[in-house]
Amino acid sequence: MTAKVITLGIQKGGCGKTTTTGIVAHVLTHEYNKRVLVVDMDSQGNQTEYLTRCDIYEFDERTIFEALKEGDVRPYIVKLEDNLHLVPATDVLATFSYWLYHDGKHIYPENNAMHLKALRKALEPVLNDYDYILIDTPPHIGEQTLNSLVASDYVVVMFESSKFCLSAVERFIETVEFVQGSTGQELNPKLQVAGILRNLNDKRRSDMKDLVELCGDQYPDWVFESVIDRTAATGRLALTGFDQSENKELRKAIDPYHEFVKELLARVE
Ligand code: ADP
Ligand code: MG
Repeated sequence: MTAKVITLGIQKGGCGKTTTTGIVAHVLTHEYNKRVLVVDMDSQGNQTEYLTRCDIYEFDERTIFEALKEGDVRPYIVKLEDNLHLVPATDVLATFSYWLYHDGKHIYPENNAMHLKALRKALEPVLNDYDYILIDTPPHIGEQTLNSLVASDYVVVMFESSKFCLSAVERFIETVEFVQGSTGQELNPKLQVAGILRNLNDKRRSDMKDLVELCGDQYPDWVFESVIDRTAATGRLALTGFDQSENKELRKAIDPYHEFVKELLARVE
């Protein structure tokens, strides 16, 4: 069976892309015994830091950027656990667009949108090695996000309960439709919206309750039933990581995501 490739995206920062990608990867490996590859497509390297708890420069010149240039992720996979692997990122990934249109233009010419298919090509050799490939994306729509969508079977749209994020979701879905072929150029017609995750909800705030409902009214077929609240336990994961011995509240941090993961699997399996 080939891996299901899932991008978690939204062009707004702070919506929980990195946190959710890391937690879903953890739950899939630890509770579903799935083989998971996480790809960090954000030059901030937050996912790399989140999962490895290392200084991202430890991965200098052994990152997704080199993998994209060579068209193969295999030499750049870091084995974090038996079933949990990562392709790290550092800030050099910020030069990816520049590279694509200069040194890389002979490898990935713009005709036939080859420059947006670089990640798809780099992932091809490992599709049979994993059950899931999860792609964490940057807070902008650019070559990294477009490459991620072109390489994916599904996208989870991250909604953080704010009006500006609701606007961002609308624009993001236009981008998904562009990748699916709305302008006549089919970059990835098989891409599907797995759903919209309403995240970072604060139960004490009535404005957020309204926005969670508004998002549900606007996208009734797409929103996941589960809504993720903002909790200290989940926020703390960024400090402690997933190591049970360092994080006594690991269960509390991860439990709110179980229903979501169940829903996600039901939609993609
Ligand atoms: P993005 O990758 O979309 O920029 P992050 O995953 O970095 O978003 O999340 C933004 C901030 O919110 C981070 O400080 C993260 O620790 C925190 N965060 C994310 N999800 C939760 C949650 N459910 N509860 C509390 N804090 C969260
Ligand atoms: Mg992030």
